[in-house]
Amino acid sequence: MNADDTAGAELSQPTQPAPEPDDLLGRLPARVRVLLPLPLPGPYDYGVPPDLAVQPGDFVEVPLGRRLVRGVVWDGAADASLSAARLRPVAARVAAPPLPAVTRRFIDWVATYTVSPPGLVMRMAMSVSSVFDPARGRAAWRATGTVPPRLTPARQRVLEAAARLGTSTTADLAEAAGVGAAVIRGLGEAGALEAVLLPADAPFPDYASLPPGPALSPGQAEAAATLAAAARADGYAAILLEGVTGSGKTEVYCEAIAAALARGRQVLVLLPEIALTTAVLARFSQRFGVAPATWHSEMTPRERRRVWLGAAEGRAQVVVGARSGLFLPFRDLGLIVVDEEHDGAYKQDDGIAYHARDMAVVRASLGQVPVVLVSATPSLETLANVEAGRYGHVHLPERHAGATLPQIAAIDLRLSPPPRGRWLSPLLAQAMAETLARGEQSLLFLNRRGYAPLTLCRTCGHRFECPNCSAWLVEHRYQRRLVCHHCAHWLPTPEACPACSTADSLAACGPGIERVAEEVAEILPQARTLVVASDLLPGPAAAAAAFARIAAREVDVVIGTQIVAKGHHFPMLTLVGVVDADLGLAGGDLRAGERTWQLLSQVSGRAGRAEHPGRVLLQTHDPDAPVMRALVAGNGAAFIEAEQEARREDAWPPYGRLAALIVSGPDEGRAAAQARLLARTAPRPDGVLILGPAPAPLALLRGAYRFRLLVKAPRSVSLSALVRGWLADTRQDPAVRIQIDIDPQSFL
Ligand code: ADP
Ligand code: ZN
Repeated sequence: MNADDTAGAELSQPTQPAPEPDDLLGRLPARVRVLLPLPLPGPYDYGVPPDLAVQPGDFVEVPLGRRLVRGVVWDGAADASLSAARLRPVAARVAAPPLPAVTRRFIDWVATYTVSPPGLVMRMAMSVSSVFDPARGRAAWRATGTVPPRLTPARQRVLEAAARLGTSTTADLAEAAGVGAAVIRGLGEAGALEAVLLPADAPFPDYASLPPGPALSPGQAEAAATLAAAARADGYAAILLEGVTGSGKTEVYCEAIAAALARGRQVLVLLPEIALTTAVLARFSQRFGVAPATWHSEMTPRERRRVWLGAAEGRAQVVVGARSGLFLPFRDLGLIVVDEEHDGAYKQDDGIAYHARDMAVVRASLGQVPVVLVSATPSLETLANVEAGRYGHVHLPERHAGATLPQIAAIDLRLSPPPRGRWLSPLLAQAMAETLARGEQSLLFLNRRGYAPLTLCRTCGHRFECPNCSAWLVEHRYQRRLVCHHCAHWLPTPEACPACSTADSLAACGPGIERVAEEVAEILPQARTLVVASDLLPGPAAAAAAFARIAAREVDVVIGTQIVAKGHHFPMLTLVGVVDADLGLAGGDLRAGERTWQLLSQVSGRAGRAEHPGRVLLQTHDPDAPVMRALVAGNGAAFIEAEQEARREDAWPPYGRLAALIVSGPDEGRAAAQARLLARTAPRPDGVLILGPAPAPLALLRGAYRFRLLVKAPRSVSLSALVRGWLADTRQDPAVRIQIDIDPQSFL
């Protein structure tokens, strides 16, 4: 079963474990509720055998049908009315650190808010089944504090070494104390050392002595003091740390991390997955002298197990991770930092649809700890919370050390269009040539992987479309493939049109980064180019190598997608060309303008971060669009105010609430019927608007036909409760899936 089984549909169909008639348990001394990592409406009741002691949070094995399933003893009283004979017993307690109370509260909270089965939310916190494997450990020793009867100088040295090193192997202790193994074994027999199993995994770094941070400017120091004070105080606080790229936000929040560490508490730093690069992690290593633990989707099970256990046992003091890091069972989490808080990657759309930034605030509040949201271009949601006084606000107005913000200009493609069949305006080409002549670097940004977004036959007009999705196949010329960007479908780029059989008649339409790279090779043949996109850099090591080449100036022109937009610092990169600044506005959804503003501000921030001033050229067909004017004028405040005004007027988020229901299935008619039924049964209290059903823009996705309903409500309405009741009251076709998305970010 995978995370996609989260269909809210299953919520209203509780199934109880089948009681077995021959299950003669007799009278059990206790009963507990056990939450299983399955799409069930809630925990199930089990009996506890007399020889077993379990507490909420303990991992246990329980029978379910004919299987044994691992679950967690949950809080709350089991149903006392159920006859003991019908209760099946807990089979065993699993040797693993318990799930802390605050993690359990968090799981319940997320499940309620996202209208998801709590077991599936808990599954995100269980994370890796190997956590429960017996540790393949190494034999080690730990000092017991008992003084041995005969305290020779050699024994004395061993005990000192044990105190200094903590739990250590025989070899390590022998070496540190300059003694033979026999001395150590003797201390074991005397009871001064006890044998323990050391996990085979690498230990976590110790943050006991932190190197001092850099000398902060007065503005930075003031911001850092506010954040550090929150990290030292007991209790919840949410604070927005806002400042342009390069203003020192990272240095400033590192002071808050230092303050939390000084209290011996753990810290979680969330980053959008794509920003979790070696370069960013190196920043933390530099500041703290040791590398943080990381948590992301590319980890091996063994590494996941190590970090999960390290978080649970308090050994992993700093974890830098992607959104799912929120579900780690921290023993004593004292601070959460959400960097690039505006980033869309914080929203998970598959499975449990949750927004990690918002849930980080919830986690902080449940744990009574501070959370710092960091951005150069905060989301309107966060700004609304600042405005309403729910969040604090710290501002860093300037770039560090006098580095100036880049100069941004628009290139009106109607006035200076690229030559036929090309994508770079002569103005941009010229700026690139000048930059190259100065020995500096350019970045061409286009958020579109591959060679061309559409391929068609010049002879018959045939277009290559994905058979499973409403989407064109994207040509990837390096791989000689036509690829669907929504599902795994691809085919080798054919020589002839499959419809009319004409050879060599396929035409690429529109640009992708591979095609822009081809153009750069034509106009600047002497330039060394590098194409940077997720599909061309398999894995973090390849990405790190690419970024290292850019930093080492082995590359003159970088052509990249948003993977280069984040977190990098290339001192000689002084020109950024945005190939299609209008791209993000095309979809026209609620946040199109806001997102374009955020992304292009971030890309622009790559230019001129060191002593060389930077320049940004935006290619656009609509230089008068408010977002283009704001970028050119460097006037974000006015743009954001206009956006806020427009949303406030019609009560769109963050001034109102949205929830989406995506109804999908392999049978178009049945999916449509379910969507229509939902529209009929929809509750419509005052002020609540039900929009749809309508075929989703991605009407076919991975072979499923999709329909969308949208609920719009005032902020005072709890959409979670409304949707839960709605689904409970609606008959559901088992062949149709209903996905619930509270606070949707994507409208596809
Ligand atoms: P942001 O996170 O706002 O983009 P950073 O914290 O990455 O900014 O800072 C930008 C650059 O300036 C980094 O190389 C950082 O090390 C440097 N920097 C910022 N503040 C200081 C400071 N007070 N002293 C020395 N270097 C600093
Ligand atoms: Zn597809």
